[in-house]
Amino acid sequence: MRALLRFGVFIALILVIIPALIVSIWGWLTPPPSILDSPYEVAVYITSTSQVLMIPLEEYVAGVVAAEMPASFSTAALEAQAIAARTYAAHRASKFGGAGCSQHSLADICDDPAHCQAFLPLEALQLKWGLVSFNEYHTRIRRAVESTVGQIITHRGQVIDPIFHSTCGGQTEDANKVWSNYFSYLIRVECNFCSHSNRLTETKTFSHADFVAALKKQDSTILVTAQQLAGKSPPVEVKTRSESGRVLEMMLGSKTLKGTELRSALGLNSTNFALEISSSEVRVTTTGYGHGVGLCQYGADGMAKAGYDSRKILQYYYQGVQITSLSGR
Ligand SMILES: [Zn+2]
Ligand SMILES: [Zn+2]
Repeated sequence: MRALLRFGVFIALILVIIPALIVSIWGWLTPPPSILDSPYEVAVYITSTSQVLMIPLEEYVAGVVAAEMPASFSTAALEAQAIAARTYAAHRASKFGGAGCSQHSLADICDDPAHCQAFLPLEALQLKWGLVSFNEYHTRIRRAVESTVGQIITHRGQVIDPIFHSTCGGQTEDANKVWSNYFSYLIRVECNFCSHSNRLTETKTFSHADFVAALKKQDSTILVTAQQLAGKSPPVEVKTRSESGRVLEMMLGSKTLKGTELRSALGLNSTNFALEISSSEVRVTTTGYGHGVGLCQYGADGMAKAGYDSRKILQYYYQGVQITSLSGR
């Protein structure tokens, strides 16, 4: 009887379990075929290998959407991100008149999100999403790219610079409040769509000594001391805020620091912050995540959930733009 049972298990292993394992491992190890062909290729500098790869534009767009936006976001938000990613590539690529990536002379674009935009190839996505979610997420992103294929954003006939950020927290910001350049399509708009973001607010607490050390690292001429912060009237206050509520300038003793400099010094999520200085610590509460200019990604997801399509989303965060076809250019 026991021998019969062992034989049954042996047969089940041979006929069912081992083939099933082989199929699932094979499916996991073998990337699906290249997503989408494209008449254009872009030269992408891959930081981890220091290589420049020629990648079909639409496949590149899919890798950017996967790297820059959660794949669980609503379809119209993924589509908006795909159009923005394609627009960014068209803005940079030499074949469309772009100047290329200024850090890598042989590339149109690099995969460093701090310089150009993030990009993940299929193999990296398998690791990022894991066995269970890969097919679902990959299909969602592939469909967002397919349904917007060739679409880009223009303003008065020019390809725009499609700046985006994670969470504006209520209002986006004028580009010229963050950088020196003014773009009429990158202007402040109300956003009631990103309140579901997990990065809507954050509070950071610093000891007086750590707060002072971070400031001095940013600007060694700042003379504010930990003793002053512990006193009755600490010499730290917000000097100016933009209309969206973001801090433009801070007074630190006799020195003025930009809001963007303080954000960098303290590692804050945004420049929209409030300071509370008590006798024992400094509490900084931020609203939103990112610089706040252009497309609000969580806002795009919120608009998609409310029924807006990708065109409406893009035309809301980039004022006065058109969605046009790359092939028509
Ligand atoms: Zn770059
Ligand atoms: Zn928003």
